[in-house]
Amino acid sequence: ARSWETTKVRTTCPYCGVGCQLNLHMKGEEIVKVTGVEGAQPNDGRLCVKGRFGYDFIYSDERLTTPLIKQADGTFREASWDEALDLVANKFKAIIAKYGPEAVAGVSCARSTNENSYQMQKLVRAVFQSPNIDHCARVCHAPTVSGLMKSFGTGGMTNSIQEFANTKLLFCIGTNMTEAHPVASTFVKNGARNGAKLIVCDPRRHRLADYADIFAQMKVGSDVAFLNAIMNVLINEDLYDKEFVRDHCENFEELKACVMKYPPERGEEISGVPKETIIEIARMLGTVKPAMLIYTLGITEHTCGTDNVISVANLQMLLGNIGKENTGVNPLRGQNNVQGACDMGALPNVLPGYQSFTDPAVNAKFAKAWGVDSIPAKNGLMIAQMLDGLLDKTIRGLFLFGENLVQAEPDIAHVEKCMAAAEFLVSTDIFMTETTRFAHVILPAASWCEDEGTYTNCERRISRVRKIKNAPGEAKPDWWIFKQIAKRFGHEWASNSAREIWDNELAVLCPSFAGVKYYRLDGDGIQWPCPSEDHPGTQILHKDGNFTRGKGLLVPLEWTPPAEVPDAEYPFVLSTGRRLYHYHTRTQTGRAKGLNDLLPEEYADISDIDAGRMGIADGEKIRVWSRRGSVEVTARVSERIQPGLVWMAFHYREGNANWLTNKAYDRVTMTPEYKACAVNISKL
Ligand code: SF4
Repeated sequence: ARSWETTKVRTTCPYCGVGCQLNLHMKGEEIVKVTGVEGAQPNDGRLCVKGRFGYDFIYSDERLTTPLIKQADGTFREASWDEALDLVANKFKAIIAKYGPEAVAGVSCARSTNENSYQMQKLVRAVFQSPNIDHCARVCHAPTVSGLMKSFGTGGMTNSIQEFANTKLLFCIGTNMTEAHPVASTFVKNGARNGAKLIVCDPRRHRLADYADIFAQMKVGSDVAFLNAIMNVLINEDLYDKEFVRDHCENFEELKACVMKYPPERGEEISGVPKETIIEIARMLGTVKPAMLIYTLGITEHTCGTDNVISVANLQMLLGNIGKENTGVNPLRGQNNVQGACDMGALPNVLPGYQSFTDPAVNAKFAKAWGVDSIPAKNGLMIAQMLDGLLDKTIRGLFLFGENLVQAEPDIAHVEKCMAAAEFLVSTDIFMTETTRFAHVILPAASWCEDEGTYTNCERRISRVRKIKNAPGEAKPDWWIFKQIAKRFGHEWASNSAREIWDNELAVLCPSFAGVKYYRLDGDGIQWPCPSEDHPGTQILHKDGNFTRGKGLLVPLEWTPPAEVPDAEYPFVLSTGRRLYHYHTRTQTGRAKGLNDLLPEEYADISDIDAGRMGIADGEKIRVWSRRGSVEVTARVSERIQPGLVWMAFHYREGNANWLTNKAYDRVTMTPEYKACAVNISKL
């Protein structure tokens, strides 16, 4: 090629769960420009700032390029692959021989490909014979999987992103889409411009609220009471879809009896939303069809996270807004492949394709394919239990795949204590992170653009990720790393590429993916379920009210408050989330210069009323502290924050909200209550 000529490679964005399709404009191995793929699902050419400018990290000088082994003095030395892999295999063998297979555990990676997550859970389940496999869906959307599984029978988003532009009503609750899923939010705004009504419910008046017909500024953690009050009005005013409920749902009378205890007055008392607004929302929902409900982590990251998910499912079933175009319950997944990592069985309670290890036929099918007698047929530990297990020594060996738990889990001081107590910790990663520093062995991995593979976005769309360059130094694809460890346990895994793993294993073992083959993934990918190679994939789940579980289950739910509520000592509620310019713990966006310039530090957003009362000016340093820790951050004073609320993110080490957050967990899934804990603030 001449010096000014570029080639174009289509791939999938490495950041959020929207899964935008990108064209990488390449000059040799260098990306010189990124554009959106026009006409493509799901983004139709649109990109946010992260997708367009967040790629520098793959070229960073800080990339890990050789295996590292920790020495007695705590420093790392370089090692050969053989030495590092032998050490990992021998340590895990010794732990398993002495303490049994349940003394080891693995945490897979929602940033990496489906094929890598599949291999990781296979390593833990088949080779180590341990049930202890989990990944970071635990800290975000695990309640979505459990809640929607209970209500509908399938734990995935029911409809698709581009439908947002075509519906008549959008009900957005607990989702700051403009910053966390920017391209998805553009389709919501298109919908509003096309005449759809928009209802936004959130403790913060974030940007999307500016487009709303009704904005309900709820108190943190009041969702079940608020939604029950809406359903109370729908039933009392005869505004629900009686035919749909009669034909396609069960348990209506039980739900009705429960929501009758939540008249709008009680809804107002708990949620802070005026009863008139609750009634107005219910009447709009009852009369404008079709309607799509969209939510994010404002719903899931609570001690009642699974209840919240079931509650939004109750509402959409009551309205008959399921199984049709431009309707549904639409959770927006955070990480690029958190849907995929769940689908791949990197969860302690299901095998790939959500198949049950307690079903003897399924267990035998996987055991035969993986060359073992059986797969552990019990639920494994969840991440928080693994961490505590490091402390109490029930977990002796932990294998981390690309996860920065130290920064991302609640109560950083506690997580660091757990990590420091680990008998043997191995981490595959692309950078040295706050977490890999605790590892005994670090294995350098190939990154996005350095191997083939697939991601699955939040609308269940399986899309290709393409290789444009070799990994730096001796870094290797994760599937290769897991295969070499398996080999040292005497397991010969046949597949030698991501394509072989998908086509020869996943498509064969999982009915939902049976029709998905690499040769079909060149364009817009395929939405599962896709049971055969002549099947086009599934845009809408539960078509015509035929739920996966048979009838949709209406579940009565009582409201419960957050685990930690404000008191005299800690009078503010801290709620947390992400900001537009950075992604999670910044391992990637932190190496993208332009993005660092746009958001160079962590902030605490506080209300103008509290700031005025306490004499805090915008941009001044404040101290924020909870029962677990204390941080100094810059205050951002905003009229978008309700009095009594402090809002922070977890992108930077300094000022990370997780020094403060509470390790109280959703009762079903052990998802931490990142959205609510009690703090105090003072001017520095
Ligand atoms: Fe990437 Fe999400 Fe931005 Fe799309 S919206 S470009 S997937 S970060």
